[in-house]
Amino acid sequence: MKTSERKNDWHQLPVDRVAEHLETALGDGLSDEAVNARRALHGENRITPKPGRGPLLRFALQFSQPLVVVLVIAGAVTAFLGEWVDSGVIFGVTLINALIGFIQEGRAESALVALARSVTSEVTVLRGGAKRRLPSTALVPGDVVLLAAGDKVPADLRLFRAKELQAIESALTGESTAVSKHHKALSPDTLLAERGNMAYAGTVMIRGQGAGVVVATGDATETGRISRLIAEAPDLSTPLTSKMAVFSNWLLIAIGLLAVLTFLIGLWRGESAFEMFMAAVALAVGAIPEGLPAAMTITLAIGVSRMARRRAIIRKLPAVETLGSTTVICSDKTGTLTENQMTVREIFAGGVSYPVSGSGYAPTGKIGDEADLPDLDSPDAVALRQCLLGGALCNDAGLRKSERHWEITGDPTEGALLVALRKGGLDEGTLQKQFPRLDEIPFDSARQYMATLHEIEGLRMAYFKGAIEQLLPRSTGMLDAAGTPVPIDRRQIEQRAGEMAAAGLRVLAVGRLVCLAGSALDREQLERDGCALQFVGLFGMIDPPRPKAISAVKACHAAGIVVKMITGDHALTALSIARQIGIVKAGGKTENTALTVLTGRELAELDDDALRRAAHAVHVFARVEPEQKLRLVRALQADGEVVAMTGDGVNDAPALKQANIGIAMGLAGTEVAKEAADMVLTDDDFAAIEAAVEEGRGVYDNIVKFITWTLPTNFGEGLVIMAAIVAGVTLPITALQILWINMTTAVFLGLPLAFEPIEAGIMHRAPRQPGTPILDGALIARIVLVSVLLLAGSFGLFLLELERGHTLAEARTVAVNVFVVVEAFYLFNCRSFERSALSIGFFSNPTVWYGIGTMVVLQLALTYVPLMNRLFSTAPIDARAWAEILALGFAAMLIVGVEKRYLHRHRRGPT
Ligand code: ATP
Repeated sequence: MKTSERKNDWHQLPVDRVAEHLETALGDGLSDEAVNARRALHGENRITPKPGRGPLLRFALQFSQPLVVVLVIAGAVTAFLGEWVDSGVIFGVTLINALIGFIQEGRAESALVALARSVTSEVTVLRGGAKRRLPSTALVPGDVVLLAAGDKVPADLRLFRAKELQAIESALTGESTAVSKHHKALSPDTLLAERGNMAYAGTVMIRGQGAGVVVATGDATETGRISRLIAEAPDLSTPLTSKMAVFSNWLLIAIGLLAVLTFLIGLWRGESAFEMFMAAVALAVGAIPEGLPAAMTITLAIGVSRMARRRAIIRKLPAVETLGSTTVICSDKTGTLTENQMTVREIFAGGVSYPVSGSGYAPTGKIGDEADLPDLDSPDAVALRQCLLGGALCNDAGLRKSERHWEITGDPTEGALLVALRKGGLDEGTLQKQFPRLDEIPFDSARQYMATLHEIEGLRMAYFKGAIEQLLPRSTGMLDAAGTPVPIDRRQIEQRAGEMAAAGLRVLAVGRLVCLAGSALDREQLERDGCALQFVGLFGMIDPPRPKAISAVKACHAAGIVVKMITGDHALTALSIARQIGIVKAGGKTENTALTVLTGRELAELDDDALRRAAHAVHVFARVEPEQKLRLVRALQADGEVVAMTGDGVNDAPALKQANIGIAMGLAGTEVAKEAADMVLTDDDFAAIEAAVEEGRGVYDNIVKFITWTLPTNFGEGLVIMAAIVAGVTLPITALQILWINMTTAVFLGLPLAFEPIEAGIMHRAPRQPGTPILDGALIARIVLVSVLLLAGSFGLFLLELERGHTLAEARTVAVNVFVVVEAFYLFNCRSFERSALSIGFFSNPTVWYGIGTMVVLQLALTYVPLMNRLFSTAPIDARAWAEILALGFAAMLIVGVEKRYLHRHRRGPT
C-alpha cells in the first residue's frame, strides 16, 4: 500500500486506481489481517489533541482571582511591616488555596473530557464483505466506509459512490453552506475546498448516502495536518458560577470599603495604625467566602458523574443546572419512549390481512393463520410475496445470528421487515443477489419514504416504502391478492392502516413502479411530475413502550414537568403509545383525537400565536418534520417554559441547539445531533432524562446548601471584627485565625455537602423558576440568625475568658473554636432544607463524619501543638471552655432546628 507516497492527490485518480493503490476491494473492504497490519503501521485513527493550557499556566491563573489578589497584597504589606510569621502564613494559605483550586479544577476538567470521550463516534464499515459498526478510531487506510445523512466523516475519504450526498465542510473551509459530493475524478489542480469527490475528516454529511475509501487517518488527515482542533478542555463556567463570580466581586468591593472604614474609625479612636491595618486585613479575609468557587465546581462535577452513572452524559456543564428548572420535556417516540424493537405483527396485501407470529428478531414465527398458512409460491399470494420482496429489497438493514441470539444491523424498522421475510421462508441475501440495487432514493425523515431500483424478470422495477401519507397519494392502482393490477381502493387501505395505528402499530406502506428500460431514479423528477405507483401492501409492526419510561413519565408529572411526544410517526400510532405511557390519559376530553394530537400538516397552518396556544395545550405531535421541532421549542420558550428536547437526526440539530437542554440519543443518534446536544443518553431511554432532572435538582440543592452553610462564618467573622473595633476591644480573632477557620472548615465541613444524597421529596416539588434568586427570604433569615449566634457566642465567650483571667491567646483560641464547633453543628441543619438532622439519618452521608473527624484532629492540633500555637497565636484551653463551646454549638443547632420547624415549615426547598 502506498499511502505515504501519495499525499493529497487522491482526487485526481479514477476510483479503481485509488482502490488499487490502497490494495483494497471496494465491494468487500479489507480483510481482518490487512486491517491488523495497517493498524500497526498507522496507529489509531485519532487526531492528537492540541495541548490545552499547561499546568503551570493553569496554576498561575489561580492567582488572578480577586480574593487571592487581596490576600497577596495583605501578605506583602504584613511582610513590609516586619510581621514575618503572619506574612508567611498568609502566603502559605494563599498557596494552599490556589493548590486546592488547581487540583479540583483539573479533576473536574478531566472528568468532563473523559465523559465526552465515552460518547464514541461510530461508523459503518465494510470489512470482509460484511457491514460492521465500529468506533471511528478503528479505521485504517483502505477501509471502505458507508456514509449516511447525519454522519460525521471519520477520516479522509475518496468517494466512490454518492447519491444526493451533501456535506457541510465548515470545520475545514469555514464555509457553512452545503456542498454536493460526487465520485468522478478531478483535475490535479483542484483546490481542497472544491474537491467534490473527497470527504474530509471532521466535516458532516447532511444529506444522502455514499461510500468512500479511507485515504488518510488521524494526524495524516487534512484536519489533523492543519490541526484546527480546539483544545479539549471544557468550559467549567455555568450561569450559576458566573452569577456567583459577579456576586463575589461586589462582595469584595463592599468588604474593601468596610475594611477602609474600620481602619479609619480605629485611627480616629486613637488606635495604632498597625493594629488597625491588621484588623482591616482580618475583616477582608474573613468576610470573603474563599471556599465557594471550588465547592461549586466540585458539586457540579459530582453531579455530572452521578448523571453518567444514570446513563446521561453531560456535554456542556451549564446543562446540569438548567436540568433542575426544566418545565417541559419534548421527547421522540421511537427508541426513547419505546424499545425500538420492531416486530411485524400484520401484513395487509391484496386486500387480505395476514397475521404474523413470533417475537423479537428471531425469525421463528409464521405468516398467516396457523390453520391456513399461505403458500408464498402460490398464485393467490403474489401480492404478499411482492410486499415482502419490496420490504426486503428497499432495505439497508442486515440480519444475522450471533452466538446466542439473532441481531440486526441498521434501522430496526427495516430489520423487522427482514425478519418477516424469513418467516415467510425467503432469504434477503439470495434476493438481494438475485435482484441487485441499481439506484436508490435514500430515506429522509422529512420525506418519510425511500425507494430502490432493481431489474426483475426483464423489467426495471422501483420499490418504494414509507409513510402511508406519502405513498397512498402517489398510487393510482393496486395489486389484488393474485397480483393482478386493479383500481385502487383508498378507503379500504386507509381504514386498515387506521385500525393498525389505533392499536399502536407502526404502519409502513410498500408500493412499486415499473420504470422505463435504462432509466434511473430521479427524486426531483418524480416529485415534480408525480408518479403512478402500484400500491402493494402495508406492514404493521409493534414497538412496545419502555417499561421504565412509563414510571419516568409519572415521576415527571409529579415533579410538575409536562411531557410531550414529538414524533414522525402516524397520529393514531403516536396517540396509542402516548396513552400506554401515560402522556395523555385515556377517557374524558382526551378521547377527542382532534384535541389530543396535532399533526405536522396542521402545525404548518398555525400562525405564531395559535402555535403558542397549541404547543401549550397539546401533548402529542405526530408526523412532525424535524424543522418544525424548532418552531415548537420557540413557541414553548415564548410561553416561559424551560424546554428539554430530544433528537437523533441531522435535521434535529437546530432544535437541539435552541432548546434549553438539547438531548441526543447515544445509540440511534447521528453524530451531528450528538455534537449539537448538551446531553447524550447512553441507552436512549427516556428514564435517563428523568434521572438527570432529579440529579440536576440535587446539584442545585447542594450548592444552595453549601452557600447557606458557609456565609454565616464569613458574616459572623466580619461582625466580630467590626463589633470589636466599634466597642474598642482587642480583636477576638486575628486575620490568621480567620484564614485558618475559613480554609479548614470549607474543605472538611463544607465539601461533604457536595456528597449529600438527593432529598426524598425532590421530585415532588415544582420546577425552580428560572431567574429566582439563589437564596430566598427564609434562607437569608437563617444566615443572619446563625451569623448573629456566632457573633454572640464567640464574642461572649471571648470576653468571659478574659474576665476569668485567661490570657488573650487562650480567649482567642476559645473564640476560634466557637466558630468551628458551631459550624460543625450547623452543618447538620444544612443537610436538608426542611427535614431535621435526625429524620434524614445522622449517618446517611458518611463524608460528613470523615470531615468532622478531621476537623477535631485539626482543632486539637491548633489548640495544643506548640508550633501551631506559635504560628497562629493560640494557646491550650481547659475542659470548662470546651464544655461551654460544645454547649454553644448544640444550642445553635437546636435554635436553627426550631426555626426550620416552626418558622419556615411550609417551604419545600429552592428547586
Ligand atoms: P420518532 O420521531 O419518534 O423517532 P419515527 O422514528 O417514526 O419517530 P422517523 O424516523 O422520522 O420518525 O420516521 C417517520 C416515518 O417515516 C415513519 O413513521 C415511517 O412511516 C417512515 N419510515 C421510517 N423509517 C423508514 C425507513 N427506513 N424506510 C422508509 N420509511 C420509513
